[in-house]
Amino acid sequence: MRRLPRHPLLLGFCLLLSAAACLAPRAAGIAPSGTVPSGAAQAGVAPAVRNPLDRSAVLFIADGLGPAYVTATRMARGGEDGVLNLDSMPYTAIVRTYAFDDPVTDSAAAATAMACGRKTVNGVLGQDSTAVYGQHDGRPLESITTWARRRGLRVGIVTTARVTHATPAAFYASHNDRDLEEAIARQALGADLDLLLGGGREMFRRTLEIGEANLEKRVAERGWRLVTDAAGLEAVAAPEDRVLGLFADDHMPYEPERVKMEAAAAAPAARRGSAAVPSLTVMTVWSIGRLSQGGRPFLLVVEGGRPDHAAHENWALTLIDEVAAFDDAVGAALGRLDPATTLVLATGDHETGGLAISSRKDSGTVLTFATGPGTKQKAERAPHSWSDLAPTSLHDPHGEHTAVDVPLYAWGAGADQVHGTLENTAVFYLLRAHLEGKTPDRDSLVHAAR
Ligand SMILES: [Zn+2]
Repeated sequence: MRRLPRHPLLLGFCLLLSAAACLAPRAAGIAPSGTVPSGAAQAGVAPAVRNPLDRSAVLFIADGLGPAYVTATRMARGGEDGVLNLDSMPYTAIVRTYAFDDPVTDSAAAATAMACGRKTVNGVLGQDSTAVYGQHDGRPLESITTWARRRGLRVGIVTTARVTHATPAAFYASHNDRDLEEAIARQALGADLDLLLGGGREMFRRTLEIGEANLEKRVAERGWRLVTDAAGLEAVAAPEDRVLGLFADDHMPYEPERVKMEAAAAAPAARRGSAAVPSLTVMTVWSIGRLSQGGRPFLLVVEGGRPDHAAHENWALTLIDEVAAFDDAVGAALGRLDPATTLVLATGDHETGGLAISSRKDSGTVLTFATGPGTKQKAERAPHSWSDLAPTSLHDPHGEHTAVDVPLYAWGAGADQVHGTLENTAVFYLLRAHLEGKTPDRDSLVHAAR
């Protein structure tokens, strides 16, 4: 979502939770829990190092994924004792997410930290903390994707948000204002990537000042093969094509909508609706297959972009659908990758909405948010101090991010480095060390570079 304004003093405890949503019914549109094949999960426990030059990595980021998101999704899919694919990953850490200038990060600063290994200011992509949001550039930072490309790896980025949105953009763009997405689309067209899949077609039409009819041709002039639906993605054959998948004008549809579109596309021609939009799992599996063709090592970044969007709206069950779709993609990847050579990380960039899971005798399990449009009560005298325990919620038509730590899950080669409390910048150092065949310096994981 858009960059958050700074709220340095809004650290009071928002204890009065509203926007309640009952957890008991299984979330619409999601299948019963699937788990990673046990052999693959166990193989991830004690990875053996083979040839460092073969090393690959996949970074999964669920936008907004706080700890309660995982618990709620697990409960909705398989019950309290269910096992998500995330749960099956053998190593975990807690991650601090604060931005350089704010205890509550936005997606731009958080993704820059993970992509480039440096804390920066909210709203800034791929530049260091000398940048001033929306005003002037900081020093450019090299992202892990650029670094990996220089070393000859194939590189891809997949998201369910617009491909120009903050999280994916931090991995290929450099800009002091994440909201100037037309400029970021221009950078995307020039980015040295093998594939970039997600939503945001409208942004490219505006950037190129053309209509839909000319988009494919103009994108091809920039060296990309454009695909716009699931069938088009599956039809890509030429191994040398760089693939730009733009499957929606804006963000890709929420998972329940996408499932409906898929069913409509499969209906007899007379009743056929719009073309099928690929799921995050389909995009992930397709990308792994394409990037690893010929045994080449690769780096893939996969964002589930919409748990955050649902949380901003206080849509608890949609949030669960999105996290479940993310978890499905993680499971599909783990079942296809070699833990002896591949590191898989899965994490959130920050928590959104202050999701809590409560239980009451009369209503059973209830999901509530501390901030957002569903909250009924305005904070009467915010900001509160740390010692002020007056219960309140933070009413906001567009819920806030929160500063709580997020989980980091790890599987495969180098995963055993993931333990303790880490900085979000550690993601960069973990990926780089693994791809170099080295052990990361512990200091680079637990202390933030600014
Ligand atoms: Zn957000």
